[in-house]
Amino acid sequence: MNTKIIACIILLATLAASTTRAQDKSKNVEIVIDGVAGFQDTPMQPDGKWHVHDPARPQPPVVTPGTFSTQATQPSDAIVLFDGKSLSNWRDKKTGGPAPWTIDNGAMVAAKGDIQTTNELGDMQLHVEFCEPEPGQHAGQDRGNSGVFLMGQYEIQVLDCYNNKTYADGATAGIYGQHPPLANACRPPGEWQTYDIIFNVPHFGANGEVLSPGYVTVFHNGVVVQNHQAIRGATNWKSPGKYSPHGPTGPLSLQFHNHPVRFRNIWVRPVPVVNEP
Ligand code: MG
Repeated sequence: MNTKIIACIILLATLAASTTRAQDKSKNVEIVIDGVAGFQDTPMQPDGKWHVHDPARPQPPVVTPGTFSTQATQPSDAIVLFDGKSLSNWRDKKTGGPAPWTIDNGAMVAAKGDIQTTNELGDMQLHVEFCEPEPGQHAGQDRGNSGVFLMGQYEIQVLDCYNNKTYADGATAGIYGQHPPLANACRPPGEWQTYDIIFNVPHFGANGEVLSPGYVTVFHNGVVVQNHQAIRGATNWKSPGKYSPHGPTGPLSLQFHNHPVRFRNIWVRPVPVVNEP
């Protein structure tokens, strides 16, 4: 092989490598549109209109909530998951060891890692109260971030979106990365807020195919913000959602995302679906 050919091969290889690096660099570049940080180099949502975490996706309209269900006492048949005193129904999600959160004045405070219930839960009615750190600090996704993970993998976002914009599919009560809430019903940081959630588990066939997706209805401070919304699969950063087949129950988990979000008064009622067509 003569030296000209060798030099040519080296040049082409160098060009190919630099092109690859340029493509890698172009991935996941955070951009800001109208004060909202997000991405437009992520996969498209199945509706073909928006990227995952697209900052151009319209912001949910702001609705000032009433007082619905705040400090709601549980129905007689509810399973109390947190009573303000004990973390005995919770475990460290990663290690299975004791839950690493703390208890302060009747609330449990997010710390160190995600936690999950010892209970395995399926179709359910869930009541959760949470309180965002006051004063609110930082912006976008870095402000009071936590999450309620149904079956440990379908996140209803917990975030302080009171006077805080973020990409719509990551806003408070959004199905993270998939479906924005229908409204922004946030209370100010430091005030207790409620989620009342009705969840139907997804169903899978013998070959792992999705027979029916999971569905979720979410009341945020008494305002319906997800109306029997189909879930597209496990929620993840920069992912449009993907199902992995699983059984009819799973633990409920709560996210630690570096912010001391507080939770209290968590109870659940199993409510099997009996009216499927
Ligand atoms: Mg979260």
